[in-house]
Amino acid sequence: MKKLKIILAAVLIASIFTVSGTNSIWADNLFSGFFKSTEKERSNSANSGDLIVVLDAGHGGRDSGAVGNGLYEKSLTLKIAQYCKAELEKYKGVKVYLTRANDTFVDLSKRVSKASAVKADVFVSIHLNSSSDTKAKGAEVFYPNSNYRPSIGEKGRKLAGAIQKNLVSLGLRDRKIKTRSSMIGSKYPDDSTADYYAVIRGSKQAGFPGVIVEHAFISNPSDAGKHLKTAVALKKLAAADAEGIAACYGLKKAKDQTLTKTKITKLTGKTSSSVSIGWSKVKGASGYEIYRSNSRDGVYEPIASVKKATTVSFRDRSVTSGKTYFYKVRPYKMSGERKQTAGFCAPQKVRLLNKPDIFVDGKSKARAKVSWKQVSGAQKYEIYRSDSKNGQYKKLAVVKDYASFQDAGRTSGKTYFYKVRAVGTGIKGNTYSSFSISQSDQ
Ligand SMILES: [Zn+2]
Repeated sequence: MKKLKIILAAVLIASIFTVSGTNSIWADNLFSGFFKSTEKERSNSANSGDLIVVLDAGHGGRDSGAVGNGLYEKSLTLKIAQYCKAELEKYKGVKVYLTRANDTFVDLSKRVSKASAVKADVFVSIHLNSSSDTKAKGAEVFYPNSNYRPSIGEKGRKLAGAIQKNLVSLGLRDRKIKTRSSMIGSKYPDDSTADYYAVIRGSKQAGFPGVIVEHAFISNPSDAGKHLKTAVALKKLAAADAEGIAACYGLKKAKDQTLTKTKITKLTGKTSSSVSIGWSKVKGASGYEIYRSNSRDGVYEPIASVKKATTVSFRDRSVTSGKTYFYKVRPYKMSGERKQTAGFCAPQKVRLLNKPDIFVDGKSKARAKVSWKQVSGAQKYEIYRSDSKNGQYKKLAVVKDYASFQDAGRTSGKTYFYKVRAVGTGIKGNTYSSFSISQSDQ
């Protein structure tokens, strides 16, 4: 905001003041009844418990705001507003809106009506100061006067104080917190003198406190150099605002409630080319990431992200028969756009079993020998039999130490079909190969 040189007369009739050459319309006119005046003052509880903060990046579009030291106020206020939003969203129980999110012109009255529309609890207008005296420097915050709705003035004063304290602690000169009342006799509905600044006045009429934060002087080389030229510096200004708001409204940081690690509770080969993995549910997790490697201490690659807190299993079909795989899982949590992950669980191993090649020797009509080549990693084999190739197969036997089985339970004159699968160990369940090709004794 620039120092005011009020152009009177005709402009006064139009009830808009132009500020020193820019079209920053810090109107000292009162839009009586423009904002629906809320009879009751808002309280946090009126808004489903969340504190609604509206951040107002000053100027924008054709209104560049103040310009100095190669900097445009409208660009810096937008950055500070965006950084401040991100900072505030680290807290619990707060919802943050911007009156503009890009380089557009927004009318002052529109800024407050936008805030009113989202049921704002507080309106924070973000500005940079400027003066023809380039020695002028420091931070100041404007808050509502004590007229009309004194409690709004009081809330605003506390907020202004909290923000100003943080700005001063960054090394900015303390220009104090201030009120400014109308100089042309604008009145509130109760006939008391209105606040001078349109957004402070409009906010009070709409039922919430509005403050204007003049972070630093864009016209001062030292303020500009130390506080406005880098993203790091702007983020500090934004954090000063956010922490001031948080302190004033008693917001608590959303505890990065440390996610605990999970544990693989199930890991089995389902076929020769799929793995089934299960893990324990972690409180507070939004989902889980599954990683895989070919060796215990090798490089683990992400293979899947389970995006549901309630899903604690995954089937990995991108595996190859006969190979050994190691799996690790970690939970993650989304807070807004931020992703927080816990550490990985201990890796667990599964060996996929090749499907056996079998041979059936029908020595006699009553007996047959089913044999196969040992499958490495197998603990035992299951032999299945059916009357027809594509019929129902029934488990005949489980063989542990041999690679063959004698079927003596045959009826003469019938043809039988056999299938075998290898069985290995897994976590909470066996690991199975796929079934062999079905063979008959003919
Ligand atoms: Zn400004």
